[in-house]
Amino acid sequence: MKDSIERASDPEPVQRTRLLEQAFNNLSLGLIICDNKYEVVVCNKRYMEIYGLSSEQVKPGTPVRELIQHRFNLGFKVLSKPDEYIRARTGNAVVPGTTVHQYTDGRIISYTVYPLPDGGAMATHEDITAREQIRARLKKQYELGKQQEEALRIRNLQFDSAINNMSHGLCFFDPAHRLIVCNDRYVEMYDLPRDRIGPGISLAEIVDMRFEAGSFPAMSKEEYLHWRAKVAVSAEPTDSVIELRNGRTFKIRHRPMPDGGWVATHEDITEQRQSEVKIEYMAHHDSLTDLANRVLLNERLEQALGHRIHREEIVAVHHLDLDQFKAVNDTFGHLAGDKLLKIVAGRLRGLVRDTDTIARMGGDEFVIVQGPIRDPAEATSLAQRIIALISEPYDLDGHQAVIGASIGIAVGPGDGLRPDKLLRNADLALYRAKGDGRGTFRFFEPAMDQQMQARRIMEQDLRKALAAGEFELYYQPVVNLASNEISGFEALIRWNHPEKGMVAPATFIPLAEEIGFIVAIGEWVIRQACSTAAKWPGDLHVAVNISAAQFRSPGLMQVIVGALATSGLHPTRLEIEITETVLLQNKETTLELLHQLRALGVRIAMDDFGTGYSSLTYLQCFPFDKIKIDRSFVKDITENTGSLNIVRAVAALANGMGMTATAEGVETSEQLDKITSEGCTEMQGYLFSKPLPAAEIERLFLSGREPRKAPGRIVAA
Ligand code: C2E
Ligand code: MG
Ligand code: MG
Repeated sequence: MKDSIERASDPEPVQRTRLLEQAFNNLSLGLIICDNKYEVVVCNKRYMEIYGLSSEQVKPGTPVRELIQHRFNLGFKVLSKPDEYIRARTGNAVVPGTTVHQYTDGRIISYTVYPLPDGGAMATHEDITAREQIRARLKKQYELGKQQEEALRIRNLQFDSAINNMSHGLCFFDPAHRLIVCNDRYVEMYDLPRDRIGPGISLAEIVDMRFEAGSFPAMSKEEYLHWRAKVAVSAEPTDSVIELRNGRTFKIRHRPMPDGGWVATHEDITEQRQSEVKIEYMAHHDSLTDLANRVLLNERLEQALGHRIHREEIVAVHHLDLDQFKAVNDTFGHLAGDKLLKIVAGRLRGLVRDTDTIARMGGDEFVIVQGPIRDPAEATSLAQRIIALISEPYDLDGHQAVIGASIGIAVGPGDGLRPDKLLRNADLALYRAKGDGRGTFRFFEPAMDQQMQARRIMEQDLRKALAAGEFELYYQPVVNLASNEISGFEALIRWNHPEKGMVAPATFIPLAEEIGFIVAIGEWVIRQACSTAAKWPGDLHVAVNISAAQFRSPGLMQVIVGALATSGLHPTRLEIEITETVLLQNKETTLELLHQLRALGVRIAMDDFGTGYSSLTYLQCFPFDKIKIDRSFVKDITENTGSLNIVRAVAALANGMGMTATAEGVETSEQLDKITSEGCTEMQGYLFSKPLPAAEIERLFLSGREPRKAPGRIVAA
C-alpha cells in the first residue's frame, strides 16, 4: 500500500496519500493489514511501537506467524499452546472479532480483526492497559462500595434491632434540637403518637405531644423546655430523675455529642423507685403500728430541736411505757397484745398535732416528740390526756382489757440539747414515774440523774458483793403468843458494804430484783439459812423471804431441795415467805411450785398481808400455813380503829382457815396486848428482839437454856 501511495503521479492524489499516511501513522491504534496468505501488507508506526518491532521485522511479506511468535516472545499469554494458537490464527478463514491479550509485563492489548473482501485481514491493536487498569480500579471500588453498603445495611439492621429491643428509651438530637433517631421504647415510654414521631421533629414538638399525653413532669412546658435546653447547651453529661404526672418515674442520662447534639437514654425506674421508697419507709417505721421507729424519731427530734424559731420555744419528749401490758400478753396471747399496741398507736395519733412525732421504741414503749411548744404546761396537758385515754378499756376480740400508762418527760433544750440526752432524761423521769406507783407522769429533774448514777454504782457493787462474802443473814425470833415460846426465826439479809457499812435490804433488794441478781443472792440465802437452822435445837423453824423474780427463774425448786439435802434440815422446819407480787405474775406456775413445796412439807407464809390489792383473793387460791399481818397495821393498832379492825378480821380469817396469824413489827406492850386480844397467834417485833446475827441468836436464845422459852423482852442491836 505504501508503494502504491508513493507511486501515484497526480500531485493531488500524492498529497492525499501523504495525508493518509500521516493519519495512518499517527493513529493511536496499531494497524496491520495482511493478505490472504497471512503475509504482511502494511502496518503503521503505532503497531511497531506496541510490539517494539523495527520496519525490517514487519516489512511487507513478513508472515503473520512470525509476528505472532514475536508477540509470544514478548510475553503474550494465551490459554492454548502457542503452536496451536498460531495454527488457529493462520489456518482457516479469518474470524472477525475482538480479543483482549495480556502480556507478562502487565500490558493489556485489545486486538480486533476485520476480514477484507479479497481474503486478507485488517487488525487493530490497541494498548488498553491504562484504561483497563482504571476500569479494574473502578470495578474494585464499586465492589468495595457495594460491600461497604451491605455491611452498613447489616449494621443498620443490627443497630435498629438493638435500639428497638433496648429496655431503655433512646433518642439522638442534632445541634438544632431536632430528632435524628429514637427507638420504639422511647415512643412507648412517653405515650407519643407513633405516626408523628420521626427524624427532623423538634424537641419542642415532642414536648408538646408529651404534655398532651400526660407523660410530663409537674411543671409548665416552658419551664421544662428551658431546663432541657439548659442541659443540652451545658455540654456536660447529666443524669436526672423526673417524676411524671402519670405516676411514672424516669431516669434520663443525657450525653452530649461533639457536634453539639446529644444522645439521651430514658430508663423507667418507677418500680425501683417504689421499692426504694418502701425500703426507706420500712427503715424508718415500726412495722406493727406504722409509727416512726427509733431512727426516724432521732431525725425528727434533731429537726425539732434545730428548728426552734423563737428562743422561748421548747420541745417536750414524752417517754411512755404501758403498765400491765405484759399481763395482757400473757393472758390473751401475743396477737391480742399486738392488737392492743395498734389501738394504743391509734389513740396516740388522735391526741397529737401534725407537727408532733410518735414513735414506737419496741415492746410497749413509745416516745412522743411534742414541739415546738411555749410552755411546759402544754406537755403536762398532753401527758394527762395520754394517761386518761390509754387507761380507757380495750376491746380485744370480745375480751376487755385495761392497762395504764406511765410517762417520763424531758424538755429540750433545758434538759438536753441532743436527742440522745433528752431521750435518756425522759427515760430517767419514766423510771421515777413507774417507781412512784405508775399511771402517772414525771418531769425530769437533775437529781434523777444523780440517783441513777448512784443506782449504777450500787449495781456494780452488788454484783461483786456475793463473791466478796459481804452478805450476812440476821435472824429475828418469832414468838408463839399462846406458849410464849420462840417458834422460829426469820432470816433477813444484810449487806456489809466495804465503804457504806451495813446496808438494809430495802435499799438493795428492789435493785437486785430488777437486775435479776436476786436469784443468785436468794440461792445463797436459802442455803445459808438452812445450814444455820440445821444446827438449832429442836424443831425451830427458819423463815426465808423469796422474791417474785426467784419464782420466775426455773431452778428454785432444785435450790430448795438441794439446800435441805445438804444441810439435813427437815423440810417441815423451812418456811417460805412470799408476798402478793409473787402471785401477780405467772400465777399458775407459781401455784404449782407452791404445791410441790407444800407436798415436801415446806410451810408457806403470806408476808406483808394487807399491803397489796387483793390479798384476800390470793388466800383463796392457796392454802397458806401462815398470814403475816403487815407492820403498818400493827403500828397504829392502838390509835386507828381501821387498822384494829383489819387485824381483827385477818386474825379471825386465819384462825377460821386453820392458819397461823403473825403480827409483824410489834414494838410496844400495848401493841402486843392488842394483837393478842384480837386473836393473833404469833408475833415478831423489836419488842421482843430485833434481827440479830446468827452468833447472837445462838448466844442469847439457844445456848445453855431451854431453847424454846422466850426469855423476856430483848431489844438488841
Ligand atoms: P419483811 O419480810 O416483812 O421483814 C420484816 C421487816 O421488818 C424486816 O426488815 C425487819 O427488820 C423489820 N422489823 C421487824 N420487827 C420490826 C419492828 O418492830 N419495827 C420495825 N420498824 N421494823 C421491824 P428488814 O430486815 O429491813 O427487811 C425488809 C424487807 O426486805 C423484808 O421485809 C423482806 O421483804 C426483804 N428481805 C429481807 N431479807 C430478804 C431476803 O433474804 N430475801 C428477800 N427476797 N427479801 C428479803
Ligand atoms: Mg418476811
Ligand atoms: Mg413483812
